[in-house]
Amino acid sequence: MSKINELKVSNTFCAELPADPIEGSARRQVENACFSYVAPTSPSHPSLVHVSNEMLKELEITDANSNDFLEIVTGKQQFPDFKSYAMCYGGHQFGNWAGQLGDGRAINIAEVEVNDKPWVLQLKGAGQTPYSRGADGLAVLRSSIREYLCSEAMYHLGVPTTRALSIALSGDKVMRDVLYNGNPAEEKGAIVCRVAPSFIRFGNFEIFASRQDDKTLKELVDYTIRHFYSHLGEPSKETYLDFFKEVMLSTKKLMLDWQRVGFVHGVMNTDNLSILGLTIDYGPYGWLEDYDPDWTPNTTDAENRRYRYGNQPSIGLWNLTRLANALFPLIEEAKPLESILKEYQENFREEYLTMMLSKIGVFKLKNGDKNLISDLQILLKKTEVDMTLFFRNVAEFDCDHPVDFFVQITKDSYLSNEEIGENRLAWEQWLINYAERLSLEELTKEERVKSMNSINPKYVLRNYMAQLAIDAAEKGDYSVLNELYELLKNPYDEQPASQKWFSKRPNWANNKIGCSMLSCSS
Ligand code: AMP
Ligand code: MG
Repeated sequence: MSKINELKVSNTFCAELPADPIEGSARRQVENACFSYVAPTSPSHPSLVHVSNEMLKELEITDANSNDFLEIVTGKQQFPDFKSYAMCYGGHQFGNWAGQLGDGRAINIAEVEVNDKPWVLQLKGAGQTPYSRGADGLAVLRSSIREYLCSEAMYHLGVPTTRALSIALSGDKVMRDVLYNGNPAEEKGAIVCRVAPSFIRFGNFEIFASRQDDKTLKELVDYTIRHFYSHLGEPSKETYLDFFKEVMLSTKKLMLDWQRVGFVHGVMNTDNLSILGLTIDYGPYGWLEDYDPDWTPNTTDAENRRYRYGNQPSIGLWNLTRLANALFPLIEEAKPLESILKEYQENFREEYLTMMLSKIGVFKLKNGDKNLISDLQILLKKTEVDMTLFFRNVAEFDCDHPVDFFVQITKDSYLSNEEIGENRLAWEQWLINYAERLSLEELTKEERVKSMNSINPKYVLRNYMAQLAIDAAEKGDYSVLNELYELLKNPYDEQPASQKWFSKRPNWANNKIGCSMLSCSS
């Protein structure tokens, strides 16, 4: 247990990897270096909005009420014995190589070790860096609330993610054109202190491969293996392949988790894929409400829908292929890399089916199960049924009266009773098939319900819920934010007092900005 400024510094990234010789935030191409030293811009009147108790516990910090804490997590005060820095990376954005990107508005303010675990504290929105390109390095309250609430919610859902220690107002105004339609307005500036064992992304490796800088590439790969995949042993061609295989497995697992809970990231560019398989960079993400695999919350991607819900697993593979290309210079053999990529493709299908079956309480794969799931998905889409409500409610399915469940489906659909009535027979047939299939399982109903409820969350951060927290917070009222933060700590539990959050998206939210559509403006 310690005060924030007494945490044990373990400075590995800067100590072991090459630094940009120039300091400060002047924009530049940074070559042969993994990072640039840069200090946060001091905010004028910082004030805390919320602090994560869980993260405080994890880091064993005791002084969240102190002035030092406030100043460190907003960049007003430097962390003692640590020189802050921004990381250099590139990335493929929407399918195209975009060159150098880097931490344009993220600054790593400390690397610490708590109970032998490494943690990087990173401020998002604390001012310009050499990688800010044409932008201001800042973040606004609305996008910061979305990142803060969702990253902690994901953690409690059991989905690997970066975490958040705190969210604060900077006291400064930030100009943003929310709809990108030529109407910029001032918004409240905010800073999130994000935390993760490492923020290294696929793009950190790609930038060196793109510049044929094999030396720095090798240094970064060796560093990553030494600190985060040390069980693989000393660096060698074989170890590099094992490393790639582990990244493949953790990315595959992440895609399965996202599909399971209905999370749509929205901007799966390679600079937004973590080398540790964490969900990272919460921007225009969203939660699937009516079950539509073609849905994306990101208005910037509305035309091609590259990052739509149903496409996330393929994009995971596409991004891994970019990483394989980046690692190739160290391995110099395409075949073994290709076979790891093939493994992703082959195993994903079966693991996905197993995961979807478990959502309906079927835990032993049998012939015909594939159709049971694909028929269900077609019906859910056609009849616009709410994903979270359906999978949670179907735990109460009564095998002796299968067609009765159609009443519940009608309630959980966004269609009118007449509209959904057209699919009544198809649904009834599916429900009868489902009852038959469940009779082949060995679990009692009680056991089945218990397992299903640990897989299908009752509460997720629906897009309109985050927006309600934002609307109140803009007026200085943090009660909704607090309420949602507490609710989402136990997403799989029944919380009778919070039943109102277990319901369909209200009509007012159907086409409201922030609720079903989001731009990248943040
Ligand atoms: P994203 O896809 O939103 O994660 O961001 C892509 C790139 O743009 C990253 O290099 C970010 O650091 C950078 N970026 C996004 N917003 C800003 C901003 N307001 N100021 C500076 N850089 C930014
Ligand atoms: Mg990003």
